[in-house]
Amino acid sequence: MKIVLATENHHKLLEFQRILHKSQIQWITLTDLQITSNIAENGVTFAENAELKAREICRIADLPTLADDSGLTVDALGGRPGVHTARYGGPKATQSQQLKQLLNEMQTKAWETRSAQFRCALALAIPGLPTMVTAEGVCPGVIALQPRGRYGFGYDPIFYLPEHRQTMAELTPLQKDRISHRGLAARSISNKIHKLL
Ligand code: IMP
Repeated sequence: MKIVLATENHHKLLEFQRILHKSQIQWITLTDLQITSNIAENGVTFAENAELKAREICRIADLPTLADDSGLTVDALGGRPGVHTARYGGPKATQSQQLKQLLNEMQTKAWETRSAQFRCALALAIPGLPTMVTAEGVCPGVIALQPRGRYGFGYDPIFYLPEHRQTMAELTPLQKDRISHRGLAARSISNKIHKLL
């Protein structure tokens, strides 16, 4: 079965390809199809945004399409940045500016109140089918006091995992896949897809 992976984020693509390499699925990227997506992610939940993206790319490509929407929810910030994680700090903020801004915003928060979650929602749209296959993954952690680690991407260097005593960016890619929000969601949707086939 051919499935389009509806993301232009090359880090996410690599993670999906790594996590789902054993499945019988042939993954096609937006680059393979020469599709550029500028879908407005105006849903209020990660799941809504994933479904929006999956539905729209599925319509354009006329192929089963898997979309991801993910981000960071910080308890002390009432769940922000949430669905706005990619745009946190303004539309032009670089990743390192985003990390600095989040650390600044958290500066006065005590260690016990720095809990946060990485969240990933996945949706698979299939041409001609009104319902979608969906899955979610949540990875709990703590916003670190300073960035650490060289692996991963995005907010990984400031996402501390107490059980591992390391940030997500200090875990190797395979260690991250085992516990990450994306790893959990991807394995769950892969099971559902295989049951469906
Ligand atoms: P999306 O493309 O709208 O899903 O944006 C996701 C945002 O959340 C990006 O800005 C990433 O920096 C961040 N993000 C999502 N997943 C991860 C992850 O696994 N590690 C670090 N940051 C992530």
